[in-house]
Amino acid sequence: MLNLALLGTGGGMPMPDRFLSSVILNYQGRKILIDCGEGTQVSMRILKWGFKSIDIICITHIHGDHIFGLPGLLSTIGNSGRVEPITIIGPKGISDTIKGILALIGYLPYNLYIIENPKLPINFSISSKGSKIENSNGNISISTLELEHSTPCIGYSFYIPRKPKFLIEKAKSNKVPKEIWHRLQNGENVNYKRKTYTPDMVLGEKRKGIKLSFTTDTRPIDTIADFINKSALFICEGTYGDNEDLEKAIKNKHMTFSEAASLAKSGDVDRLLLTHFSPAMDNPEIYIKNATNIFPNTIIGYDGFIDELSF
Ligand SMILES: [Zn+2]
Ligand SMILES: [Zn+2]
Repeated sequence: MLNLALLGTGGGMPMPDRFLSSVILNYQGRKILIDCGEGTQVSMRILKWGFKSIDIICITHIHGDHIFGLPGLLSTIGNSGRVEPITIIGPKGISDTIKGILALIGYLPYNLYIIENPKLPINFSISSKGSKIENSNGNISISTLELEHSTPCIGYSFYIPRKPKFLIEKAKSNKVPKEIWHRLQNGENVNYKRKTYTPDMVLGEKRKGIKLSFTTDTRPIDTIADFINKSALFICEGTYGDNEDLEKAIKNKHMTFSEAASLAKSGDVDRLLLTHFSPAMDNPEIYIKNATNIFPNTIIGYDGFIDELSF
């Protein structure tokens, strides 16, 4: 099960009733934060999910509305007594940006691991005790995709694999000793009493996991459909609701609601959640038809929106 909340749904600048676009994921009590604009700390206080358990911060791009909250947030986490490292993933240029931010902060009681524009999925094992990067396996995998914005920008997809079922009858008919059932169930190959046992001797068919994808601040480029394919939830920017703003969207490298909806449709996702609304758009709800005409399962995001994705 994966819980998520929209901490803010605005683009450009924080408004009195709309914080900047940011998402927090909660898995096994540990947190992954996506983007951190000015004021993200305040919306995190309102949500009350805590600061200390943020293990991974994913930054889409280095525009103020997505990163200006980082110095404050990293300091607050330091003040909360955290000593375990935090991993920051970001686009090309993130290492230099973080260096600058650290010069501003001065001292942090924990280390930062920076991963700049990763080309391969990163596997994390996350438990209630914390998270660490694994070479393979792990229980959450983070992939990125280069997007098309006015500065290097990446999208994220999060995948939680689902373990196959343990089949007692299969284990018995393959004469697998009970003592090693647990290890095989965890995916290990086991040598026991001069015999090798493999997980497939006790496990059933592969099962579909949970996929969540997130793209903001981009034109709707072709590669997105594949990247978000079959997501349970696709969170996407909808900077402009009105179709008449298409020219602005093209010029500023953003999207309209209908462009986001077309992506959701071609990516065959279950649901589309729109966010990153232009400060000029007071009530995004009035444009919902521009999205639902193309992709009916569209939700207009709002600050404090909470959702749960399960197997
Ligand atoms: Zn933005
Ligand atoms: Zn931007």
